[in-house]
Amino acid sequence: MQGEAASGTRVGLRTRAEIDARFKWNKSRLFESNEAFEAALNRLPSELNRLDGCHTFEDAATLKQCLDMYFELHTSVNRLTLYANMTVDTEPSTQTRLMQTRALSVLSILMEKAKGIRTGILKMTPEQLAAFLAAEPGLQASEAYIRNLMRRSSRVLNAEAERVLMLAGDNLWAEIDLNEIPSDAEKVFDSIRIDMKLPVIRDESGHEVQLTLSNYTKYRRSPERSVRRAAVEGLMKTLMAYENVFASTYVAQLKLDVLFARARHYDTALEAYLDKDDIPVSIYENLVQTVNANLAPLHRYVSLRKQVMGVDTVHLYDMYVPLADGVPRQYTYEEATALIAAALEPLGEAFVSRLKEEMSLSSGSIDLYPHADKSSGAYSCSVYGIAPFILMNYHGGLDDVSTLAHEFGHSMHSILAMEAQPPGSFHYTMFLAEIASTVNEALMNDYMLRHAQTDAERIDLLVQKLENIRGTIYRQTLFAEFEYLTHTAIEQGEAIQAQWLSDLYATLLRKYYGPDYTIDTADGHEWAYIPHFYYKYYVYSYATGLSSALSFARLIAASPENAQRYIDMLKAGGSKNSVTLLREAGVDLSTPAPIELALKEFDETVTALEALLLKR
Ligand SMILES: [Zn+2]
Repeated sequence: MQGEAASGTRVGLRTRAEIDARFKWNKSRLFESNEAFEAALNRLPSELNRLDGCHTFEDAATLKQCLDMYFELHTSVNRLTLYANMTVDTEPSTQTRLMQTRALSVLSILMEKAKGIRTGILKMTPEQLAAFLAAEPGLQASEAYIRNLMRRSSRVLNAEAERVLMLAGDNLWAEIDLNEIPSDAEKVFDSIRIDMKLPVIRDESGHEVQLTLSNYTKYRRSPERSVRRAAVEGLMKTLMAYENVFASTYVAQLKLDVLFARARHYDTALEAYLDKDDIPVSIYENLVQTVNANLAPLHRYVSLRKQVMGVDTVHLYDMYVPLADGVPRQYTYEEATALIAAALEPLGEAFVSRLKEEMSLSSGSIDLYPHADKSSGAYSCSVYGIAPFILMNYHGGLDDVSTLAHEFGHSMHSILAMEAQPPGSFHYTMFLAEIASTVNEALMNDYMLRHAQTDAERIDLLVQKLENIRGTIYRQTLFAEFEYLTHTAIEQGEAIQAQWLSDLYATLLRKYYGPDYTIDTADGHEWAYIPHFYYKYYVYSYATGLSSALSFARLIAASPENAQRYIDMLKAGGSKNSVTLLREAGVDLSTPAPIELALKEFDETVTALEALLLKR
């Protein structure tokens, strides 16, 4: 997923039909046609009955048979949901949304049916598992999956309690991405965002334009201060007007997170949601502490902005303006992919040639151009056994080239893991999910900087790097702190209201951005429209991900052996604990070192940028 990088909508977009087929993904790799999808959708629910006999495992062979069947069926169901999601994102309509709802309901049936396997495994003793593994070598392919379930066996409640939690939509035990099935609170949040009416503002030429959440990012970076101020104030004041409904909705989500955690006897929601990926709470605490100890470089960056922009103080609406004007270069898709391949050369020939195959338009992996009704932003998505698909909204700017490198990082991670791992252990955790993507971006930025011809280009790249670290490490850690403090308040039984949330957010902004930053009255309300606060302790993994990635980029550049260790980590998928996998590849997130290194790079980049900007 590409955080908040979603580009604004452009007017006068083509329709999907007007775009050449070679620039669209080839969904027939999943299903030949919508009819074939329908047929599978109708067939699968009864096929899932095959799992009914899987609940107690007297011998190793039965367990293996059940698990093989489960993974096979899971893959088939994922094909359905993936096909439906991809269709909705490119051809939204009542009909395609219905396809999506129906596919998701098959997924729910699968989760219900898989309960027996889970219960059966949880009843086994470690001795029994060892005996089974010895008796049936074929079970080794599922060992990681089994051990991961047994790891949390003490969290399983009695059948009646489990039944109730399931009815309440428990997401701590679902074997799907935490956010695949949104809570009702999140649905309400999405609805307010849709219904909320933003004001009309004046653009650079004085014309009245309707501010929307999708054109907001465009106006927020306007070189015209009055325009960007109107955009930011327009959104923040609207959020303020709806503050009570946003607060109630968010508190409902917080309470649900705490309820599920407590039901399973976790001390905190933090512990519960990190445990899903087997991440110790100390990793989270280490991140927040290390970032807090290294806020000075961010304060320096704000001061530099103040100086370069010639303003007496920096406001929220000044943070997104490009620092240098110059004609931004455009890259065709062929130029972009050639650049990416060249930048990733340190990863070795085998990696790059596999990547080139994926990037070739003939692979049918990519849906490149924006068109009317297409979902915004960018992502890579996959199902076991089939090369991943990428959705892009490519306009050809440098940021789009980076986004491409980012998404192909996800895809390569999935491909390498799929090719090396059985279905039970290919799926890498959310904690690892943003590493391969941001390693690519980092290598790309380094490469472009080495080859930059002019100061204007260098400035552009340095700012891009700063904004990347600011947005991914500083900003997401600020979010992580906010999320921690709000959950903690609920856990301590405090009554939270809109004003409390906005005050807390403003305090964090003040701490992070330092003395040259002015917080305007409504700025504290920014928390209200951030979807990530409904993702249950997800955002910290952006920050740990980029910190790891910057360390990997250094390691990879230093030697081919390091590059190989990194590739082996990608190939390992979800076969081992994530923190261990990273440590074995050379990055230890239980120490401050990777985060310190990232923020030192931020500091050095501010210095380099300062030298270039102030000599002009
Ligand atoms: Zn991503």
